[in-house]
Amino acid sequence: MFHRTLRFLRIGLALAGLSLIGAANAATDAPLLIVTLHTVLTEIAREVGGDAVTVVPLLRPGVDPHVFEPAPADIRRVREADLVLAAGLGMETYLPRLRRDLPADRVLEVGNRIPDPVQVCTADHGHEGHGHAHDHDHGEDDPHWWVAVDPLLAAIDIVTTELAARRPAAASAIHARAAAYRGRIAALKPWAQAEIARIPANQRLLVTSHDAFRYLAREYGLEVQPLLGLSTADETSARRLAATIELIRQRGLRTVFAEASANDRTLAAIVRETGAKPGRPLCADGLGGQPGTDTIEGMIRHNILAIAEGLR
Ligand SMILES: [Zn+2]
Repeated sequence: MFHRTLRFLRIGLALAGLSLIGAANAATDAPLLIVTLHTVLTEIAREVGGDAVTVVPLLRPGVDPHVFEPAPADIRRVREADLVLAAGLGMETYLPRLRRDLPADRVLEVGNRIPDPVQVCTADHGHEGHGHAHDHDHGEDDPHWWVAVDPLLAAIDIVTTELAARRPAAASAIHARAAAYRGRIAALKPWAQAEIARIPANQRLLVTSHDAFRYLAREYGLEVQPLLGLSTADETSARRLAATIELIRQRGLRTVFAEASANDRTLAAIVRETGAKPGRPLCADGLGGQPGTDTIEGMIRHNILAIAEGLR
């Protein structure tokens, strides 16, 4: 009697197991539902995922991600998603709250997996210079990885691996799309290097509104002198303003750069004080806000050309 019950139980479990496998197979044929928290990740997910994914962006091009807050409808979309792609490295200040009710594997903070993130010195101890190396440990990770080609390629690889693992039946198509897309983005680097090389060495200095261009500066050998910190919500200090004006005069810098999404009143003051001209506004925080910048390729080309034309 006992043995027979056990046998039925085993058969029952085996059948339950089979039907679970069946359900899982059906689910893996459906497109992976991805919610993106950054405009650059919207493009990467669509380019790499193709018809294996459905991408729901929470941020439209041109929206400032530093001050974005998800509405109740956004939070519902996040709950329904199979995967949420975030820029990471602290960019989404609301993310710790959002993650609280979600399974740990629901959210991928892409920036957190990019090798060798730029560290920014946040302690003010008298060397707030421009773009010097920080190898001491009071730094903060710079979340603006999308402004340069190498970290973008790393992000493409990270998203590709994740999507292929979650939709193994579509993995070869995902890898093929990623390879073609990767090639297009990688081709921007030698072009950008040639453009930057035409700027005289002592003019390779980016005076910008907030601190968003360190990955670009590292990739192309530029110095940065931002007026604000890592967020567009920061404020500048009188000391920083004075140091920036001094630096512009010393170098005879002709151009300073506003940003597509930031408030640039301080920059306007610098223009009045120094005679440097405002360049074309740069895209600091993702896609959009300037003509032709709704794609990653367009954004990189826009930024590099604005810098190269402004400083040479
Ligand atoms: Zn920013």
